[in-house]
Amino acid sequence: MSALELARPEIRALQPYSSARMEARGGEIMLNANESPWPPSDGDAYACNRYPDPQPAALIERLAALYRVPSTQVLVGRGSDEAIDLLVRAFCRAGRDAIAIQPPTFGMYAVCARIQDAGVVGVPLRADFSLDVDAVPAAATPQVKLVFVCTPNNPSGAVVPRADIERLASALAGRALLVVDEAYIEFVDPADADCGSVVDLIDRHENLAVLRTLSKAWALAGARVGALLANAEIIALLRRIMPPYPLPTPCVQAALRALSKAGQESAAERIATIRRERARMRATLSSLPGVRAVLPSQANFLTVRFDDAGGAYARLLAAGIVVRDVRRYPKLDDALRITIGTPQENDRVLVALAGAAA
Ligand SMILES: *Cc1c(COP(=O)(O)O)cnc(C)c1O
Repeated sequence: MSALELARPEIRALQPYSSARMEARGGEIMLNANESPWPPSDGDAYACNRYPDPQPAALIERLAALYRVPSTQVLVGRGSDEAIDLLVRAFCRAGRDAIAIQPPTFGMYAVCARIQDAGVVGVPLRADFSLDVDAVPAAATPQVKLVFVCTPNNPSGAVVPRADIERLASALAGRALLVVDEAYIEFVDPADADCGSVVDLIDRHENLAVLRTLSKAWALAGARVGALLANAEIIALLRRIMPPYPLPTPCVQAALRALSKAGQESAAERIATIRRERARMRATLSSLPGVRAVLPSQANFLTVRFDDAGGAYARLLAAGIVVRDVRRYPKLDDALRITIGTPQENDRVLVALAGAAA
C-alpha cells in the first residue's frame, strides 16, 4: 500500500475549495476576489490589499533549493505546527486511527491527535533517550497511520542516526507514514554527519516525510513559516485540505529576506555562535553544585537535571530569567530546559545558578 492510500478515503475523495487566486492568475485587472483595489494607506510596503498566493512560488522555490528537493515535494504553511495538524487530519479517522510517538517528546503531536480524536500510542525512549528502533514498528498496530520521530528531540536534545530512520521507514512501509521532525536539525554538530537531515531519503522511501521550520535556526518564530517535505502525492493531498490563504504576505516577505544570500550568511553565524555557546554552557553548568547532569544536546537548548529543579526555576525567575519547566515529562522529573541565548544572556543564567548554589 502506498503512503497516499493510508490517508482517509473521504479526504482523498474531497473536492477542495477553489479560491479566486487559484482559479485565475496572470490577469491585469483583478476583480474576482472582492478585494480592495487600493492598499490601506499610501506607501504600504506589503500591498496587503490582495489575497496572497496560496503557495507562494518564490518561497517554494527558495525552500526547495535550500532543502535540495523538487518543488513538488514542498508544502509551506503556518509553522510546522500547521503541517502536523494537516497530517493528523488527513490520515487519522476520528475514533478509529492513531499516531505513534516516543515520549518524552514534543507535545503538539499528541495534542493534534486528541483534537482529531485519534489515538496516541507511546513507545518510550530508552533511559539514555535513544530511540528503540525495533519497538516502534512492533507497537505500530494497523490503527497507527503516522509515526512521529523528533530529531534532535525536544526536550531531550538527542539525535536519531540516519541509519535508524532508514530502518524505521523500511519497517513501516505500507503501514504508516514516518514523519521526521527536524525543527532543530541546523544546530546538529557537523561532526555528527550521520545524524544529519534525512530529506535526501524521501525519494527512496515514499512513506517518509520531513518537517522543517524557519522558527528556530532562521530566527523567524514570529512569522510562522514551516514546511513539510514529502512525496509529491502527499504534498498534493495536503494542499487540497489546507485553508485557502495560509501565509500572510508580510510573513512571506520576511521569509524571503531571511533566505536571501545575506540572510543565509547571518544565519550561519548565529548557528555557529549557538553551537559554541551550547558547548560552553554544557561544560560550565555541569560543574555547578546542585546540577546533577546536563543532557547531551544537538539542539539550541540544554536540558539540565537539578537536585532541586523547582528551586532553580524560582531563582532564575527571580533573576528575570524564564526557562522551561519540563518536570511533567516522563524521565525528566528533575529537569529544566534552558534555551541557548546570547552570550550575555547565558552568562546571566550561570551567575544566577552559581549564586544560588553558594
Ligand atoms: C519549535 C518546534 C517546532 C516548530 O514549530 P513551528 O510551528 O514551525 O514554529 C516543531 N517541532 C518541534 C519539535 C519544535 O520544538
